[in-house]
Amino acid sequence: MGILHDWDRQYLWHPFCPLRFWLKEDPLIIERGEGVHLFDTEGKRYIDGVSSLWCNVHGHNHPYINAAIREQLERIAHSTLLGLASPPSIELAKRLVELTPEGLKRVFYSDSGATAVEIALKMAFQYWRNLGQSQRTRFIALRQSYHGDTMGSVSVGGIPIFHEIFGPLTFEALFSPTPHPYRFDGSPNQCRDVCLAQMADLLDRYAGQIAAIVVEPLVQGAAGMIVHPEGFLRGVARLARERNVLLIADEVATGFGRTGSMFACQQESVSPDFLCLAKGLTGGYLPLAATLATEAVFDAFRREPWPQTTFYHGHTYTGNALGCAAALASLDLFDRERTLEHLPAKMDQIAKALESIAELDNVGDVRRRGLMVGIELVEDRVSKRSFDPAGRVGSRLCHRMRDRGLILRPLGDVLVLMPPLAMPAAILAEMLDIVRTALERDLPDLL
Ligand SMILES: *Cc1c(COP(=O)(O)O)cnc(C)c1O
Repeated sequence: MGILHDWDRQYLWHPFCPLRFWLKEDPLIIERGEGVHLFDTEGKRYIDGVSSLWCNVHGHNHPYINAAIREQLERIAHSTLLGLASPPSIELAKRLVELTPEGLKRVFYSDSGATAVEIALKMAFQYWRNLGQSQRTRFIALRQSYHGDTMGSVSVGGIPIFHEIFGPLTFEALFSPTPHPYRFDGSPNQCRDVCLAQMADLLDRYAGQIAAIVVEPLVQGAAGMIVHPEGFLRGVARLARERNVLLIADEVATGFGRTGSMFACQQESVSPDFLCLAKGLTGGYLPLAATLATEAVFDAFRREPWPQTTFYHGHTYTGNALGCAAALASLDLFDRERTLEHLPAKMDQIAKALESIAELDNVGDVRRRGLMVGIELVEDRVSKRSFDPAGRVGSRLCHRMRDRGLILRPLGDVLVLMPPLAMPAAILAEMLDIVRTALERDLPDLL
């Protein structure tokens, strides 16, 4: 292997990476992308089966997005939104307000999903302060939820392996059960109703103290692609409205067509008070995030006394012009390429292929919503016993798939399929074939 491989091991620290395994292997170095393919430094081609960590939408190196970024670059790469405005950030804000569920009227930019959530949490907290209700300081989140890695986002995160260690540093959130039908003894509807009842109990127990409920709508991604039962999100929105509590929808993963509609909230006719967007916002090209808020929230921040009601939060690169230009181009492509109209056929194709994958010996559960898929590997499908995490079965299996030309990144022993929305049918078929072959031929080898 080349000098870059040595330098990577010598100089880099990779995110979410158990170092003892990383440092033993030769890193796969991606040099180039074209459509839904990635190419390594040796010229070998791979299908990008997880959209480069869930963010790519229209494929890599798309001439239209490239041109939009170039055009903006010829004008200016970045100017601040602190005290100044810029054309692409204004145009994008208008487009986002028009596109997102009704009631969301204001766009606050940042750079990542974590900051989009962090900002919604801080805004919700300060909203109540600005209204003189300073006893509303608590947040309800779902167990096993993931909202990013800054301290506020970690505080409302519920994945023990990621979040537990930072417990002493975080604020204390209230956790309500995740409606996960696979792990529930009863029907999906019963699962939904039990979980909603427990959230209602929390709201009662802490009446007057809750600032907001924060949820990943429809699918809890990092938890292992847990697909909520139908009606759960609507139920949470109803509880929030009835109890006069704000609702934060974290659509960082589900936004921009991922679940089959532009936003997951739309499938349950929910209009949250905050909408957090990141991953797919720029089509997966540049780091940009947005927190949308209602006019009622915005109003609370222009009251007197102004020094106390101002939202003193911002990042140097907030509303970056190149990022906004990429996002505008990505939104154009949704129209030009009819991205959403092509999704139902792709979802059918995936659903059909998953039917037979679901029958395989080591597959405990197959979950899908739109183009978000989780395949849970287990010791055997009858006992549904999980593998010992130390065996890293999911990770080792994904390495085998790499040799077969597919890049996936698992969540523990849940295989994740998250193809770019633009992945053509033939490549989807190839991807699903590799997954099935790996499960049939490679997995027994690894056990
Ligand atoms: C990925 C993700 C985040 C964090 O986004 P970053 O850009 O990685 O900070 C937050 N919420 C959800 C639901 C996510 O999937």
